[in-house]
Amino acid sequence: MSKRDYYDVLGVSKTATDDELKSSYRKLAKKYHPDVNKEPDAEEKFKEVTEAYNVLTDKQKRAAYDRFGHAGMSGAGANPFEGFSGMGGFSDIFEQFFGGMNGATQQQQRRVQKGADLKTTLVLTFEEAVFGVEKEVTVSRYDTCGRCKGNRSEPGTETAKCEYCKGSGEIRRTQNSIFGQFVNVTSCDRCRGEGRIVVTPCKECRGEGRVRVTKPLMVKIPAGIDANRQIRITGEGEAGPRGGVPGNLYVSIVVKEHAVFQRRENDILLDLPLTYWQAALGDRVEVPTVDGPVELEIKPGSQNGETIKLREKGVPFLQGNGRGDQLVNLKVVVPKKLTEEQRRLLTELSKTMPREKIGKTSAEKDHDDKGFFSRIKDALGSN
Ligand SMILES: [Zn+2]
Ligand SMILES: [Zn+2]
Repeated sequence: MSKRDYYDVLGVSKTATDDELKSSYRKLAKKYHPDVNKEPDAEEKFKEVTEAYNVLTDKQKRAAYDRFGHAGMSGAGANPFEGFSGMGGFSDIFEQFFGGMNGATQQQQRRVQKGADLKTTLVLTFEEAVFGVEKEVTVSRYDTCGRCKGNRSEPGTETAKCEYCKGSGEIRRTQNSIFGQFVNVTSCDRCRGEGRIVVTPCKECRGEGRVRVTKPLMVKIPAGIDANRQIRITGEGEAGPRGGVPGNLYVSIVVKEHAVFQRRENDILLDLPLTYWQAALGDRVEVPTVDGPVELEIKPGSQNGETIKLREKGVPFLQGNGRGDQLVNLKVVVPKKLTEEQRRLLTELSKTMPREKIGKTSAEKDHDDKGFFSRIKDALGSN
C-alpha cells in the first residue's frame, strides 16, 4: 500500500504554518478519534493524520520529508511514528489537544515501559544498494516470553489485585491551589501502574515477561539507498519489560566499494581508459553499467577528461521517479613500453604531427576557431 502525502492527509499546502497544521489536525483528529468515530477505518485514519501532524510539526523531520518524502522518514515498511503501537502514545497525543478523556482512554493511559532500541549494521554490495534487496539480519534481543505471552505469571495461575492502588494502577492525590482544586494522578509504583501483582512468576522468564532470543529478521532495503543511512524498523527492538511496547531496530547501511564504479549521489562514475589512437580515430567500445554492458561511441578527437553521459543508467531515486546517469570519464593512457616496431611507426607518425605549444592545445584552438556564432548555432541546433 502506498503512503499518502502528509500534506494531503492534513489537507494543507506545502507552506502551511504550525498554526494551520494544528488547526487542521485538531479538526481531523476530533473527527476520526476511535472513541468518537465508530467507523472501522477510523483508527487507521486517526493514526494517519497523527503521523502526518507529528512529522510536519517537527522541523527536522519536515525538512527530511520535504527532501526525500516518505523514504526520508524511514526504511521500507517501517512506521516513522514511534510509540504509536502502544495505547499510551495514543491517548497522550489526544490529551495534549483536548484535555483529559474519560472512560476507555483513561484506562489505557497506564504507562508501560518501552523496550530498548537496538542497532545493527548491514553491509551491502554496490549493486544491492542501487537496486534494493531483501536481506537477513540477526539480532540478539529480548522478546516476549512464549510461555506466559508476556504477562509474567506461570500459565494457569492468577495475578492478585494490587492492594496499594486498589487495582486501579494509579495513585490519586487531591491538591488545592490558587487555581482551585485539582487531582494529581501518578502511576502506582508497587504494581508499576498495572493494578495487578504477579503471585507465581513464569518459570521460563522468571516473571520478566520476556526472554533473550537470537532471531533472524528480513530487512527490505529500498533501491537507491545511500551509504551511512539508517533504516528504522518499528517494533523490532527489545520487547518492553512487563508487556511494554517493543523498541525499534535501527539498521545502519554500509556499502562496499565497487571495483570500477563510484557513486556521486544518484550518478555512477566510471573511468574509461583509452589509447591515444582510440581517442584520435574514434572507436566503439563496450563499457560496463549496473544494467550490464552497453556499447559506447568514442568520437574521433575525443580528449582526456571528457565525459560521456549514459542517461538513466545511474542509481534510482529513492522516491521511485527515474534514475541518475552514468558518467563515463575518458582517460587517455599513454603506453609506457613500446616494441622496436611500434617505436619506429610512432616516430614516423610524429613527423607528420605538429608539436603542441604551451598555452592552448590544438584541440582547444579548433574549438575557439569555430567562432562565436557557429557555437550559438550548435547550442540551439542540437539538444
Ligand atoms: Zn514467561
Ligand atoms: Zn498498584
